[in-house]
Amino acid sequence: MKRTAALLLCLMMLLTALPAGAEEFSFSVRHGDRSRRQVAVTVDDCFNLDYTRMAYDLSVKHNVPITFFVLGIKLYPQDAELWRTIAASHNEIGNHSYGHRDLSKQPRMGVYNQVMRAQSSLDAVLGYHYPMQVFRPPYGHTNRAGSVDVNRMIQSLGYDHVILWDVSQTSFEKCKKQVQNGSILLFHTNPKDLKCLEKLIPWLIEEGYELVTVSQMLGKPSVATSTDLYEFVEYRDWQNAL
Ligand SMILES: [Zn+2]
Repeated sequence: MKRTAALLLCLMMLLTALPAGAEEFSFSVRHGDRSRRQVAVTVDDCFNLDYTRMAYDLSVKHNVPITFFVLGIKLYPQDAELWRTIAASHNEIGNHSYGHRDLSKQPRMGVYNQVMRAQSSLDAVLGYHYPMQVFRPPYGHTNRAGSVDVNRMIQSLGYDHVILWDVSQTSFEKCKKQVQNGSILLFHTNPKDLKCLEKLIPWLIEEGYELVTVSQMLGKPSVATSTDLYEFVEYRDWQNAL
């Protein structure tokens, strides 16, 4: 009993010694700081370019950023203009893997390919290096019993966190009820989600929420793009070699 009590005391001391907000920024991030009136709207997959464009237009109309989590396989050269526009805007582009594979079921090389090929695909479409700094795993899956240490691999590839979400409602009424300080909201490029965003974004602004990119929510600097051709060619060569 005495030992249990001592252990509990140690645990309590450890918890109280942690800086405020430490829990918020563990490797898997579901939400930002609950004490700040900030939310991050994220749009995943971007299969459908028309709806991706509509989401971008909403971000311009209301002057608020959206974080687009893209799939490498869906970044086509003919869509380069829109992606260049988004990359140069107040929005953020994040990595959502190359082909939407469940990373918890991939071998090491599969995880590596999924993360790196998405980056090289984006660079190829933009024509310059845009080092994505936020990663969202497909289905929100990373480590599971018996899988390779996916989180550690993602970290070793330069990502400080994997970004999950705490609100995935796409009905405006339900979304309104669930959103709170620090929420990360998940949407996709389809008619229902865009309809929700059309109402939700002005409502969030009215309610006094500051809309931020995922990087801003985590206190990271904005993405620093680079026209370093060596780096760019290196990525492309690597992709071609697969
Ligand atoms: Zn997805």
